[in-house]
Amino acid sequence: MNPCKITLISFGQIEKPNLEIIARDVKRELQVQVEYKEGFIDMSQFFDPSRSQYDADQLIHLIDTEYASDTTKTIGLFTVDLFIEILTFIYGQAFLNGRSGIASSFRLNNERYGMNRNDRLTLKRFSKEIIHELGHTFGLIHCHTPGCVMMSSTYVEDIDLKSHQFCSNCKNELEMIFINNVKF
Ligand SMILES: [Zn+2]
Ligand SMILES: [Zn+2]
Repeated sequence: MNPCKITLISFGQIEKPNLEIIARDVKRELQVQVEYKEGFIDMSQFFDPSRSQYDADQLIHLIDTEYASDTTKTIGLFTVDLFIEILTFIYGQAFLNGRSGIASSFRLNNERYGMNRNDRLTLKRFSKEIIHELGHTFGLIHCHTPGCVMMSSTYVEDIDLKSHQFCSNCKNELEMIFINNVKF
């Protein structure tokens, strides 16, 4: 087990059993101690009325300054629609080789695309995106190996095509990062 730690903070209506499943998925793939808790943010300050979405850049900066610490990788979990200036929406983002990131389940459910509700699938997608953002916080960039969790995803179909797992290259890189990371 790596000596570093991961902290997941839920700021949305994510049920506890689901948080537990996410934490388990993250722990399985990264072999790192995972802690999860609930947080509260007044989301109205991040709402952009002209887009009817929430400002992901402002949110990630808040997570980084108010919730993150140097001894853990912190991911803020949300259930609202996130945007950054140059994109229609994002599933999440993270500071590369930084200490924090964010992810949202808002666009991950089938109903949004006119398909049958499938809560298990939504959760699976959410776990993958959270593991992906954590990969970035550990210094991994996007990967083109089919199935690797570090592949970038534009549509939910892209998320479904990849697994929860890091490919062998990304895994090796992670190992090196864990070995060399003096911070932990
Ligand atoms: Zn990414
Ligand atoms: Zn990879």
